[in-house]
Amino acid sequence: MGPSDSHGRVLFNQVLNSNDRTRAQAQGGGATSGNSKEKRFLCMFCNKGFSCTQKVEIHQRVHTGVKSFSCTQCHMHFAQAGDLKRHQRVHTGERPFACMHCEKRFSERSYLRIHQQKKHSTL
Ligand SMILES: [Zn+2]
Ligand SMILES: [Zn+2]
Ligand SMILES: [Zn+2]
Repeated sequence: MGPSDSHGRVLFNQVLNSNDRTRAQAQGGGATSGNSKEKRFLCMFCNKGFSCTQKVEIHQRVHTGVKSFSCTQCHMHFAQAGDLKRHQRVHTGERPFACMHCEKRFSERSYLRIHQQKKHSTL
């Protein structure tokens, strides 16, 4: 019912001044022992609370611009999409690296090289 077409101008109200003092006194009693139980690791950007420091670091990437790629199959996170893609082969079973000497296939090139050195070491 009231004229509220521009509430930006009502920001500095005199009534708010007196209200603020009583509210500050009421809060002063137990404000310090409020939310320091479980989520005591705070984001340094938005003060959001987390239960462990690793979760804070992952969350803070939304502020720092570091892209976080999280696996949909497990709880692992990766900074690069390629790392996530490579990791997800453990879930999909994809093995693009085939040994040229036998039928074995591997999810990572380094595994293939180790295999070839072990099983087919012609060096
Ligand atoms: Zn944050
Ligand atoms: Zn995973
Ligand atoms: Zn082989």
